[in-house]
Amino acid sequence: MPYREIACSSCGNGKWSVILWGKFIWRDNEQREYFIDRELGFCRDCEQIVAKEKLPSRDDYNEAKDAFHAGFLRRLFIASRLGRNPFQRSLVAEALDRRSGFEVLEAVMALGREPVCLQCGSDRVFAIPIPETDGRWDCSWIPTGVKHPDCGGEFLVRGSGGHRVAVRLYKRIYDTRGRFLEATRIRR
Ligand SMILES: [Zn+2]
Ligand SMILES: [Zn+2]
Repeated sequence: MPYREIACSSCGNGKWSVILWGKFIWRDNEQREYFIDRELGFCRDCEQIVAKEKLPSRDDYNEAKDAFHAGFLRRLFIASRLGRNPFQRSLVAEALDRRSGFEVLEAVMALGREPVCLQCGSDRVFAIPIPETDGRWDCSWIPTGVKHPDCGGEFLVRGSGGHRVAVRLYKRIYDTRGRFLEATRIRR
């Protein structure tokens, strides 16, 4: 699979976007699970580029929460207004799906906490937004506008071009505070 490479313009500190691959799951005390959305970030405690939790915006979450708690008829109505595309994965669709484990996201959001580093659990982490490239992912470096703390360099991103990589994928389990619990290999 193609990937992206992120590196500091000054010191070379960098990572491949393959750190976002695999499954990232919150698991609550009742063993219910919900997928964790994630993005590239820089953790000031790991001093590295890491996978960072991405929590939904309050507005998106509240809309989904209303759908989750709605009565039967209202749920039918909300479902009828969703797109027909079965592959469309919106937060509201997740909330309407009784098997999605939406309760777990609810428990996470009820903590009112900041998103954390999925490597060490620290909230001293910020996102590195990847610029839009109109689908072009050649091998030239593009600035992200994000500075490498205590270094002065800037993080740059480039595509892997025709270069592909195969990696072992893991299912990583976290508690609702975003603390790492365990990882198991995904068999394909
Ligand atoms: Zn640097
Ligand atoms: Zn960290």
